[in-house]
Amino acid sequence: MNERYDFIITGAGPTGLAAAITAGRLGASCIVLEKGCRPGPEPRGESIAQYELMDELLGRDWLKNNASNDPSFRRFHSPMDRKNTLIDVHKPYYFFHWRHLMDHMKALAIEAGAKFLFESEVLDLIEEGKCCTGIKYKDKQNHIHEIKGTTVLGCMGHKDPLGKKFGIIREKIDCPTIKYYTTHAPRVNISEHPNLQFYMIPPKMLEIAPNLPPAVAYVFPLADGEMEAGLMLRLGQLNSIKNIEIPDDNLMHKVWDHLTQRYPGFSEFFKGAQTNYKKLTVISNRQLFKNIIPHERGGLILLGDTIGFSEANGSSGLYFGMAQADFWVRLILKRRKIQSDIWSENFAATARNDYQKGSVYKYIKKSYRDIVLAEKIMFKFCGSDRLLNRWWKPLMALLQMKS
Ligand SMILES: Cc1cc2nc3c(=O)[nH]c(=O)nc-3n(C[C@H](O)[C@H](O)[C@H](O)COP(=O)(O)OP(=O)(O)OC[C@H]3O[C@@H](n4cnc5c(N)ncnc54)[C@H](O)[C@@H]3O)c2cc1C
Repeated sequence: MNERYDFIITGAGPTGLAAAITAGRLGASCIVLEKGCRPGPEPRGESIAQYELMDELLGRDWLKNNASNDPSFRRFHSPMDRKNTLIDVHKPYYFFHWRHLMDHMKALAIEAGAKFLFESEVLDLIEEGKCCTGIKYKDKQNHIHEIKGTTVLGCMGHKDPLGKKFGIIREKIDCPTIKYYTTHAPRVNISEHPNLQFYMIPPKMLEIAPNLPPAVAYVFPLADGEMEAGLMLRLGQLNSIKNIEIPDDNLMHKVWDHLTQRYPGFSEFFKGAQTNYKKLTVISNRQLFKNIIPHERGGLILLGDTIGFSEANGSSGLYFGMAQADFWVRLILKRRKIQSDIWSENFAATARNDYQKGSVYKYIKKSYRDIVLAEKIMFKFCGSDRLLNRWWKPLMALLQMKS
């Protein structure tokens, strides 16, 4: 392949697709490489707030018209569901079906002129001096190819094979998470629970897993009696809470089964419900990786879950990935207007600086700070079932203030 692209986008998840839409619409040439046979082969997050960018990227009111619910409220349940509190998140929040969003974004990217290569697994970077100038990938016949371009946008999420070259240690970023769908839960009418439900699991609460780190189980009611549910470990305080350790996969599943059968309130959603998807995966939200342009002279920018930038409470990763993608594509194309060989000088340092001064980065940083503080209070200072229940009301008032 001899063509040289303005952007080589690795990974067709929400971050890569957003980059392709913006790049294409601004007249840049771009190619998206995706390992799977369709965009975002594995479902991940399915709720998002109505940020302005959503209208710009997806089309006016697309979310509103295609979402199944507006869970602007979140119900937080204290340990063992002894107390619960409704928190208003102050902006419309929508649930959508993952496949629906991915296919829509792919169609928009194609309409904008982006090219796609599916079943193409990115293996490595092509580096020239201190700059990245392309990638190597393997097609489905296992043939290796190279593509050259001006900027590689690394959007391969938690399966990114490249980050470790630049000091990204996935174990330091990712939190084990179970994602689960059911249909038809006969014991509860899902439509009567239009809010996101969060069930707190402080350390040492579960006898079957006394060393389990703090965790949160959740239920997102979807349309047609379906629901998405899950269990997320919260590892931000891992090093500061004694006697906790990340469970192996078997224990994660055992804890999940226990919660769906025994956790008061939470278990009600699962009685008689049919399971149609269950997967142990991760949410990349434990630590921010700051070196977003890892090459001294640039040519590569790491975005989205690749660098652990989903919001620390796991519910804005989609927006953060898309907003970063949009930011970087615009910045680079602005630069192209004044300098055709974008990365020839030391643009990397200025660009990194611009990003850190920009609103997306500031918002991500603030979200992290807030959630780390909330979790410190909840899981470290009130680190037990009894204390968390006792301090529940003031804690929830604080959460409402911050939301
Ligand atoms: C259970 C769960 C629930 C969540 N809930 C929410 C939520 O409600 N709201 C929210 O905003 N966020 C949520 N998140 C986070 C959100 O899903 C992620 O932040 C978002 O998907 C990140 O997008 P991404 O494009 O950066 O990465 P991904 O979505 O992981 O996409 C990466 C893409 O790269 C491809 N890829 C990987 N390796 C290669 C390779 N070598 N070559 C080519 N392609 C490759 C993958 O197949 C994939 O398509 C949730 C995550 C999980 C796991």
